[in-house]
Amino acid sequence: MSPPPAPGVRERLRIAIQKNGRLSEPARALLGSCGLSWRESPDKLFCYGDNAPVDLLLVRDDDIPGLIDSGLCDLGIVGRNVLQEQASERRRAGRGANVREWRALGFGGCRLALAVPQDWAWQGPAQLQGRRIATSYPALTRDWLDAQGVQAEVVVLSGSVEIAPRLGQADVVCDLVSSGATLAANQLTPVCDLLQSEAVLAGPEAELDPTLAETAQMLLRRIDGVLRIRDSKLLMFQAPRAALADVLRLLPDAEPPTAYPVEGQDLLAMQALCHGVVTWQRLEELKRAGARSLMVLPVERMLA
Ligand code: ATP
Ligand code: ZN
Repeated sequence: MSPPPAPGVRERLRIAIQKNGRLSEPARALLGSCGLSWRESPDKLFCYGDNAPVDLLLVRDDDIPGLIDSGLCDLGIVGRNVLQEQASERRRAGRGANVREWRALGFGGCRLALAVPQDWAWQGPAQLQGRRIATSYPALTRDWLDAQGVQAEVVVLSGSVEIAPRLGQADVVCDLVSSGATLAANQLTPVCDLLQSEAVLAGPEAELDPTLAETAQMLLRRIDGVLRIRDSKLLMFQAPRAALADVLRLLPDAEPPTAYPVEGQDLLAMQALCHGVVTWQRLEELKRAGARSLMVLPVERMLA
């Protein structure tokens, strides 16, 4: 029997997610696809896990790395941009990395980009020498300027960065971009990407306590399963043995297929998990290569 936990040691895994914002819904949906459900506290800041020892804390995204660092939460779902900005701040203050990216989660995609007024003829970073750059990401912006060997003034703004040039607060901006529509509406053009971002599962550099680590591993296995099957389909078909090599050449994104002999015929019944999109055109090519009775099935759950 395992010894009782030391007083003060938490036994339930606590995950910080954004309360309101772009990442709140997809983060909850991902954890929901992992089979977790919760009861919400009346103040809607805490969700108690119903069917697994995994609770949620709903917070501002900027607080997530600090909550993990302090041990108040074990994991968090946050934009890579926020995680790396705070990591860079720590480095700049001479402190070591404490929180790292455990998994990229494939939603909340955006980039941190340098954007200049549309009437600038962009010739490269040297053009920024002595200029003012408005941003909510001063540490990442300074890292990039240092790497370019450019000296520029960084104007730190907490929001509405894109209007700074029009207000005369700055010459250019360094801001998050997804479609680029907000920049265009402010007569700005992105000229250089500093960081490709998406939502990530963040966790401590150091190991978790054994009970929490076990729950975290369970969660990671489920997240990996959900991420792997997001675009995956199970392809079933039959093919003569002689056509097999040609058929498999058309399935470069498939896991090694399983084959069963079809009794009394020189045929194999095959099933292959494809990670790419299986279009009609692909099915037609497979048929031309000798496959028949093709069937594409959705995959609901997977545990490797
Ligand atoms: P909070 O109140 O939690 O501080 P916020 O205003 O800082 O919220 P959101 O605007 O909801 O945060 O953005 C959360 C994350 O969504 C960003 O940190 C980024 O990773 C991601 N994101 C994706 N596309 C965009 C975009 N076009 N603009 C800003 N963030 C984006
Ligand atoms: Zn924020």
